[in-house]
Formats: sequence, structure tokens, C-alpha cells
Amino acid sequence: MVESKEMNIQREVDIKHAIPPKFDYKKEKVAIVKLDDYEPENIKGALKSILELLDLTDYFNGKTVLLKPNVLTSNEHTFTPCELLTGLIQIFKNEAGVKEIFVGDSTFTKNLTSHYLKKSKIKEKCEAEGAQVFNFFESEREKIDIINPPYSAEESIYLPKEICDTDLIVNMPKLKTHTGYVYTGAIKNLYGTLGNKQKMHIIHKNKDSFQRMLGDIYFAIEETNKTDKPKVLTIMDAVVAMEGKGPQFGKPRKIGLLIAGFNSAAIDIMGYTLMNGDPNDLKAITSVANRTNLPIDISQLEIVGEKNYSDYIIDDFKKPKIKTLKGTGYAMKWMPIRLVKLFLKMSIKINKKKCTLCEQCVNHCPASAMAKKKDKIIIDRNKCIECFCCGETCPNDAISAKWYIFRIAPYLFVLFGLIALAIIWVVFFL
Ligand code: SF4
Ligand code: SF4
Repeated sequence: MVESKEMNIQREVDIKHAIPPKFDYKKEKVAIVKLDDYEPENIKGALKSILELLDLTDYFNGKTVLLKPNVLTSNEHTFTPCELLTGLIQIFKNEAGVKEIFVGDSTFTKNLTSHYLKKSKIKEKCEAEGAQVFNFFESEREKIDIINPPYSAEESIYLPKEICDTDLIVNMPKLKTHTGYVYTGAIKNLYGTLGNKQKMHIIHKNKDSFQRMLGDIYFAIEETNKTDKPKVLTIMDAVVAMEGKGPQFGKPRKIGLLIAGFNSAAIDIMGYTLMNGDPNDLKAITSVANRTNLPIDISQLEIVGEKNYSDYIIDDFKKPKIKTLKGTGYAMKWMPIRLVKLFLKMSIKINKKKCTLCEQCVNHCPASAMAKKKDKIIIDRNKCIECFCCGETCPNDAISAKWYIFRIAPYLFVLFGLIALAIIWVVFFL
């Protein structure tokens, strides 16, 4: 969906006055609970504290609940730990009176989703606790129009029937960096509910538009809410986060917290702040915060539990280098950066020593910008939309993203041509 800048500005103005009438996101609390490890007993204690801090002890009674983990691959720290899922299932089943429990997600394709649900043991362990596990690529879908607040990038979202029919969703992201979008947390984790991800990358080549679309998914899920309370509760795993080359090949970095609440933007404000980032830089956060009248100011969040969150901020948390150039906040407001960005392009690099020519990246590139030619993978840089899906899907950490001055080359060519012409004119005609 291509939109004019004027339309976007008008929409931003309109949505400031369009809070969903069902509940006030701004008033929702953010619970922060200390959790040092993934020991089942410690997890249960932390999850129970969250339910108490958010006054949710009776909230789930008689309801159906779907847990939405982050299933990316089966590498350690790329997916929501089984212990966190099973711990919550046990509490819901044995203490919270939940009627039925489901777990569901999708990653790149139907087959890869089944593969990683199995290899991560999420399927086996959740089913052993009595939860039904869904691969959303196999789901029927319902068209949900986004009405209140109005859509920002997509008018309608096609959601899995299981998401629409379940009373409550517990969104369980892992706090990680993302080489293409800097950060992945509460709002981005809901992308796993879509079945047409590759198409969405093509429609929203522009990173701002893509991030606003992520917010639309969140509001589409709330449109399916049949109660007068919020439908999506987020419990974010910030026990061991991921820094550097996230979301798959970064390094684990311990923070030691669970973060929970009903406003996904509030959770991401907290999550990105713990990475020592400025939430104003990320359009996914600002888009949802604006639409829920939530100030993008951590000091204005109602924090319960570990109120001393600043003690947990990691000053040297390694964020992708893309941050400084692709950010939509301070980086883009600073004129020299805006000018420099005109000349830069992300370069996807393949490490030939690590590449096994499995072609997984080729098959998942939304822009068909990759191909296998003899004994190497080649990239058509003119087609590349800088989404980093290839890096997310590569099983061998063979893909990295760097910034190169591709765009400056034509300008330099013209500049040197003009200088040469000027010299010729001075030497021969003056
Ligand atoms: S080459 Fe990689 S970054 Fe470029 S469009 Fe394809 S998947 Fe996206
Ligand atoms: S997914 Fe990774 S290993 Fe497979 S062909 Fe692409 S770069 Fe090589």
C-alpha cells in the first residue's frame, strides 16, 4: 500500500484522538520482576508475582488463552524458553482456572515452523502439559478491519482463527536486537501471527511503513476482543536478552528480568531502554504509543515491582550498526545523517566459508534478489529491499549486513566528469 506523506501526517493527527473505548491503555501498569535463571521453580515464582502485581489473579478464570511465543529457530536464546511457556501453562491450568490453553506461532514457512516447533521442543513440552500447539501456516484466517484506533499502514489484517476465537492472548517475546529493524520485542513478535509475511515485506519496503504495519497487527488482534478488558497481555523474556547480530546470531546478554503489561508499546519502551536505546527512534513503538496516547517517556510509565529499572540498563549493550542510519528518531532528525543516508545502502554479505549453499536464503528472500549461481549465492543489490530476512533464515550464520557507499558511486562519477570538463575548458578554451 503506497501512501503519500500528507496522508500519513493526516492519519497521525486523526489517530491521536481515537483511543479504543474499551479500556485506557495509558493507565495500564508495567510489571517488572527479577528472574535470574530459567529454573522452573524460580520461573513460577516470578510469573505469579506478575499476576499479583497486575491484579490478574482472577483475570483468566473460565477463559480460553493462547500463548504466542517467539519461535524463530531452535538455536539457544533465539526462541522463548520452554520452561517459561510450561511454567505459565501450569499456573493457568492448576491455579488460574483457565478453560483451555493453546500455543501458536509461525516463522518463515509452514515446514520450517513445524521443524522449529519440534526442534525447540516447544511442541512436545507444551503438549505434555495439555496445551494444543498450532502452526499458524495451517490455520484458517479471518479478515479483521482495523477501526479503533484507525489503521496506520494496513486497513485489514488476516489473523489465524485461533487468535480471533481465543478470549485472551499472552504475547511472549524475547528481548533481542534485530539486524534489519534494530530491535524486536512485544510489537514485532505479533508479526508471527501473519501468514503472508514475505508479501508484507514487499508492500512495506519502507521501514517506517513496515513498523507501522506491525502496530496494526496489534490493534487488529484487539479488534477481535469480545470483552471490556484488553485482550493482549505481554510477558517479555528479558532474563537473557540477545545483543549484536540478532535476532538469530547475536550473543546472549543477561538482564535478569521479566517485563509484563497490557500496552505493548509500554513494554517495548521498557525493553529498548534496558538496551540503552531511545524508544523515540523506533517507529513500531512511536506508532503504537501515539495511537494509545502513551507518552514515550519511561518516567511516565506506572511501574510496579522492580521500580529501580535504571539499575538494569546495560550501557554497552551492542545494537546493530544499522541503528545509527536507519533510525527514525534522532538519527534521522540530524541533517548530516539524512544526507549521508541518501548515499548509503545496506550490503548483504555472504561468508563463503560458512555458506553450505543450502539456498534457504534464496527461497525466503521476499524480493527475489538472491540466486545460486554455480558455487556461490549472488545478490541483486538493485532488487534488495534491506529486510534481512535472508540473515534471519540462514542456519549457518553466513550472512551479515554492512553499510556500503553504493549510492554515492553514480554521484561521484558525475562529479568527476564535471571536474574533468571544467579542467578541459580552462586548459583549452581560456
Ligand atoms: S537479499 Fe536479504 S535483505 Fe535483501 S531483500 Fe533479499 S532477504 Fe531481504
Ligand atoms: S541460507 Fe546461509 S548457508 Fe544457506 S545458501 Fe544462504 S547463505 Fe548459504
